[in-house]
Amino acid sequence: MFETQGAEQYFGEPVSQLEHALQTAHRAALNHATDALVVAALLHDIGHLLSGEAESSRELGVDAWHEHAGFTFLSRHFSPDVAEPVRLHVAAKRYLCGVDERYVRQLSPASTQSLALQGGPMSDEEAAAFAAEPYLLDAIVLRRWDDAAKIPGLDVPPLASYLPHIERALVQRVGS
Ligand code: FE
Repeated sequence: MFETQGAEQYFGEPVSQLEHALQTAHRAALNHATDALVVAALLHDIGHLLSGEAESSRELGVDAWHEHAGFTFLSRHFSPDVAEPVRLHVAAKRYLCGVDERYVRQLSPASTQSLALQGGPMSDEEAAAFAAEPYLLDAIVLRRWDDAAKIPGLDVPPLASYLPHIERALVQRVGS
């Protein structure tokens, strides 16, 4: 999927889908994340590539629910350590917007625009429910790496360098 669709632009940001995935994964690796969270970072937007919808959904003004498509796909192959942060990564943005004003101000224009489509900032009630998610912290760190992974031309390790992480995460799934 990255080979066939990875070159597509990442929703109004100055990077491609593949560049965005690699930058997110690299931040996870730099922060000594677990294999599962590195894989989650690499594949957090796989839902966009699964549906092939890429640029069109934002232009049409609909929320494509890509995190649920990604979650369903990843759940077939990986443990919840990979799939759950992916499922929660859009909600994590709505959560952070609800609880942290500084976070709202640093969002990119495209991310601010998609926030409205995704339901806007969480209410206090929604935020309290979200804070009880078992994968809250993983979802929040993934979200922050995601937000920062939009730097044009950044030199980061290639897709193949994550195969060992993916293989270890798959093994953990088989063994669990
Ligand atoms: Fe992303």
